[in-house]
Amino acid sequence: MDATAANLLLDHHRDHARDLPWRMTPRDPYRTWLSEVMLQQTTVATVTPRFLRFVERWPTVEALAAAPDEEVLGEWAGLGYYARARNLIACACAVAARGGFPRTEGALRKLPGLGAYTAAAVAAIAFGEDAVAIDTNVERVAARVFGIGDRKAAGEAARGSFPAGRHGEFAEALMDLGASICRPKAPNCPACPIAAQCKARALGSPEAFPAPKVKRVRPHRYGIAWWARRGDEVWLVRRPGSGLLGGMAALPGPEWGEERPAANAIAIHRHGFTHFTLDLMVVPCAEPPPGEGWWQPVGELASAGLPTLYRRAVEAALEAEREPRLAA
Ligand code: SF4
Repeated sequence: MDATAANLLLDHHRDHARDLPWRMTPRDPYRTWLSEVMLQQTTVATVTPRFLRFVERWPTVEALAAAPDEEVLGEWAGLGYYARARNLIACACAVAARGGFPRTEGALRKLPGLGAYTAAAVAAIAFGEDAVAIDTNVERVAARVFGIGDRKAAGEAARGSFPAGRHGEFAEALMDLGASICRPKAPNCPACPIAAQCKARALGSPEAFPAPKVKRVRPHRYGIAWWARRGDEVWLVRRPGSGLLGGMAALPGPEWGEERPAANAIAIHRHGFTHFTLDLMVVPCAEPPPGEGWWQPVGELASAGLPTLYRRAVEAALEAEREPRLAA
């Protein structure tokens, strides 16, 4: 994209930038960082209300660092990709300990959990550094403008398009274009400020860029979730601090495996993770299994901080208790 196209995009962005709650003037590094972490793999529509709750509860990085881990993980429940929440806590503690966010991409990259994209985005957007933030939106727009099939190559080609001194603004302009006009499906080319520069449009096939990812077959796994009841309460545990769903509230159960267990489930919840599909079988048991846990009132399950997998499994089990003949 040449300087003319970059200016056209920036002019368009000045009038059409999305009004998002983390885009205050001047940009706040805490909110910029928090939004970028939340937006990884999650849509703006899902993130917005959760972001607002987060900053109402913990308005500064110091407040977040001082919060108990269980409360932060509970507030994250339902957003998925829980390693992000654990990294968020570690990063908040590191930033609070050093007295604030570092201002450069290189120093930000050294913080726990900050990948190349997030470090560049925070440096460019919050601190005005000429760092280049390339996310999937930017890759898609670049793939189309330059007519390059390979996503990563398109992202690299976009690096030279960022105008000096305006990297943060340009990154946001590209993100907004990718989210609202140059969408993955049905791009709205007639409304695009850089349509005249776009090779994919000239070829008549914008959706063909970038080339589609090769779909991998996801392996299947099975798990048991023990369903121990005591009156109107159910036994919950906290998962180990590391690994999938680490530190999150859960139903108890053994490690998941590739063999389907021979067990009488009252409900089975199928859940898609990034790398595999899980059938979680909810199996009644008379006593809680050994180990630490707590009795959670069924009427207060919403405040237990269960991630989506366990929330859905619990809902399926409660439904099966109400309608036993319809159960799995
Ligand atoms: S012209 Fe169409 S395909 Fe090209 S950048 Fe604009 S919206 Fe995307």
